Amino acid sequence: MAVDSAQLIKIINHMAQYIEENKDFLTELDAAIGDADHGINMAKGFKAVSEKISSMEDKDCGTILKTVGMTLVSTVGGASGPLYGTAFMRASQATGTKDKITFEDLPTILDAALEGIKMRGKAQKGEKTIIDSLEPAVKVLKSSSPADLDLLKKAVDAAKDGVEYTKGIIAKKGRASYLGERSIGHQDPGATSCYIMLKAIYDALENMQK
Ligand code: ADP
Ligand code: MG
Repeated sequence: MAVDSAQLIKIINHMAQYIEENKDFLTELDAAIGDADHGINMAKGFKAVSEKISSMEDKDCGTILKTVGMTLVSTVGGASGPLYGTAFMRASQATGTKDKITFEDLPTILDAALEGIKMRGKAQKGEKTIIDSLEPAVKVLKSSSPADLDLLKKAVDAAKDGVEYTKGIIAKKGRASYLGERSIGHQDPGATSCYIMLKAIYDALENMQK
């Protein structure tokens, strides 16, 4: 299966839709251990993204991903804007000027996004961040090749488990780290938004295969 520019735009719009639908939920999660803006930040960013990419069907996939990254950096406030922005810009670099993205490319692209977030935020697994859902997903995707829709489903499930895992650990990065032990018991907003975005990729691809 290969995804062309028009389909990539559809996938990103699917992410935007899920983020909008989960806006209040993400903000509630952030209210418990942060400053109650994660859903608002992300929804604002993805609304701008959808508008920006709506006329980009004639552009290559890397250019579209780069536009997503730059738009997130400039419109999403807080820690998550530069982190997700960097992720999409690294994904863009890994994609290059390709007109189509295949399942073979997917592990490399998502791994580049993960490395971008790690580089930018200096976080590692177990610190109650985006990494806790993204890294397990990337690990699954890299575990067998070529990747396919079933493997992506397993990756999304691993991300979901990663979100659960954040409930039991202390935040070591970002605002939630100010709470120390009091951050235990709460699920991380960023790990959750990342899971939602991965789920959106899977659901969009599954729809396209029908
Ligand atoms: P802010 O904390 O500035 O208000 P957001 O509320 O938009 O920004 O995002 C908070 C989320 O950002 C956290 O739940 C966490 O998952 C993620 N995050 C914070 N710092 C880091 C980091 N250094 N690396 C990875 N993710 C991080
Ligand atoms: Mg916040």
